[in-house]
Amino acid sequence: MTYEEKIEKLREIIAGTDNIVFFGGAGVSTESGIPDFRSEDGLYRQKYKYPPEFMLSHTCYATMPEEFFRYYKDKLLVTGIKPNKAHYKLAQWEKEGKLKAVITQNIDGLHQMAGSQEVLELHGSTLRNYCERCHKFYDADYVRMSPGVPTCECGGRVKPDVVLYEEGLDMRTMNKAVRYISMADVLIIGGTSLVVYPAAGLVDYYRGKKLILINKSATSRDSMADLVISGSIGEVLDAV
Ligand code: NAD
Repeated sequence: MTYEEKIEKLREIIAGTDNIVFFGGAGVSTESGIPDFRSEDGLYRQKYKYPPEFMLSHTCYATMPEEFFRYYKDKLLVTGIKPNKAHYKLAQWEKEGKLKAVITQNIDGLHQMAGSQEVLELHGSTLRNYCERCHKFYDADYVRMSPGVPTCECGGRVKPDVVLYEEGLDMRTMNKAVRYISMADVLIIGGTSLVVYPAAGLVDYYRGKKLILINKSATSRDSMADLVISGSIGEVLDAV
């Protein structure tokens, strides 16, 4: 099938359903200027003293907070970002009653900025930050502007509401994601390498026959998919 034929098939599938669930990752936000982890210019290809898995781990946060926040602010607290065509199309489908939920591994808040309502953030959000001692809420700007380690007025350390390596996922969000995926008519997976578990394992709960994969590079689930479109997620969704 040519690229155009695949887009046409995707149009037909979308036109014939009102129960789409989208599952995405960092690739959804690269067209907004946020680097992903595993692409050619992704964070994993950049050279640091420690690998990203360590810099973004609970161990690093707990034992080397200065280092952790330097990396976190530099790489994950990107300023002035805006949603792209993929975020907007998904928000539009939800408004039209076609899409039930966006399940994302991203922590950038761009789906909500585009207007999506039902967004399940499996790995949390950089937009929410809490004092570990008194639980006072702080926004991303507070963390960004704090020199070094952000501290609450009570003296506690302010922690981003982001799931770090070695930390568990929120079970309520996971259970909700399982429910949406298992009841979906169409599951669109996009912009994710599908290697980060347990999030990637959610795909196994899909029971339908319209599994669509839109990604720039191949994934381990391509052979399971009913339609694989290799390309930019913003361009593909915009063309539908
Ligand atoms: P990943 O970096 O492992 O994989 C990204 C995938 O998206 C790659 O397969 C790449 O080929 C593809 N891709 C990149 N740009 C694309 C585009 N424009 N269109 C289609 N495909 C594109 O990302 P992941 O699978 O989400 O796992 C990494 C983890 O890193 C996640 O848990 C996520 O929380 C975190 N992360 C989040 C952000 C963010 O919030 N924007 C950014 C970097 C990493």
